[in-house]
Amino acid sequence: MTMNVKALDREYIMGTYSRFPITLTKGKGSKVYDDEGKEYIDLGSGIAVNIFGIADEEWANAVTSQLNTLQHTSNLYYSVPCANLAKALCEKTNMSKVFFSNSGAEANECALKAARKYAAENLPQLNPVMLTLVNSFHGRTIATISATGQDVFHKDFKPLVEGFAHTPANDVEALEKNVKELKPFAVMFECVQGEGGVLPLEKEFIDKILELSKEYGFLVICDEVQTGNGRTGELYSFMNYGFTPDIFTTAKGLGGGLPIGATVFSKKVEEAMKSGDHGSTFGGNPVACAGALNILERIDDKLLSDVRVKSDYIINELKDAKGVKSISGMGLMLGIETERDAGEIIADCMSEGVLVIKAKNKVRLLPALNIPMEDLKKAIEILKFYISKGV
Ligand SMILES: *Cc1c(COP(=O)(O)O)cnc(C)c1O
Repeated sequence: MTMNVKALDREYIMGTYSRFPITLTKGKGSKVYDDEGKEYIDLGSGIAVNIFGIADEEWANAVTSQLNTLQHTSNLYYSVPCANLAKALCEKTNMSKVFFSNSGAEANECALKAARKYAAENLPQLNPVMLTLVNSFHGRTIATISATGQDVFHKDFKPLVEGFAHTPANDVEALEKNVKELKPFAVMFECVQGEGGVLPLEKEFIDKILELSKEYGFLVICDEVQTGNGRTGELYSFMNYGFTPDIFTTAKGLGGGLPIGATVFSKKVEEAMKSGDHGSTFGGNPVACAGALNILERIDDKLLSDVRVKSDYIINELKDAKGVKSISGMGLMLGIETERDAGEIIADCMSEGVLVIKAKNKVRLLPALNIPMEDLKKAIEILKFYISKGV
């Protein structure tokens, strides 16, 4: 007998995570099972990663077929899945070039480097400062926590990387003032702040960023790590606002469960980095790319319209429900502010076989985009019950 997994984890894994008290061992679609055989309906998708649920057959076939053919090449050689995925990403977004990495933080790291280099060579009138938003989240590396506009991620890790300033989301006046004073070379934001509490930016605020970008010449960078790949009801969330950024980054759902990050560049900045400027041993890994290509090809108009229908269903079920204070978000990325403590609701739901997660003080829902309506209905009913319990 091996040691109990919780004891093993506590003994050997550095304690950076406070885990829920269950061990997940398998699943299918939007159902997942723990080591005691208990079934859960999964409304968290491993934090917006398992876009087509668990062990999706088509994705698993694409992955295993590549796995049994060639699992890794390094970037010393050309590789078919990597080139095909880059083409699909560019064609679907009207962008020009892609750099592949292995996570959201790395995708942002690449965007930061490329934007700095582009600005140094092309935007001499602007300062070496990137403006990001208060309450944003851009990753856990030293550079990406510096970009992140939340002190909780900074406090024990100083000195931070220089060259970042933060302006409050949806505050047009503060934005204008900061841009005027700081003359940043880039503004980076999530169209829907995920970890910050599932908060969508207002169209007016984004329009102001775009207007100021025209006036001052700074780059516009979207972090689509969580919002991307169909999550908000469009392929990328900037599409909901009708603009195309100079650079966008994505990860999480793109891989459907395997690690991948992508930094995607418009024509304007496509030559920002040249041979030797950046690299990643695993970046563009054939197995991850073969899976991602399958995922990307299946995020079509039908799926996106299903996402919007399911989103409307959830919002309609919950908006006037007892114990719900507010609902925020877009598509299948929703945050529910509740009268009861979100942590207690999450624990109750778990005991009743529904997995939901947290964002700040909210219950956050990030179900698989293809979650069967039957599973969704059952899960929302249980969630609704526990939101209202005792209030
Ligand atoms: C999760 C997330 C990241 C970090 O991604 P990792 O893959 O954990 O490095 C960055 N930005 C946003 C918006 C995220 O939600």
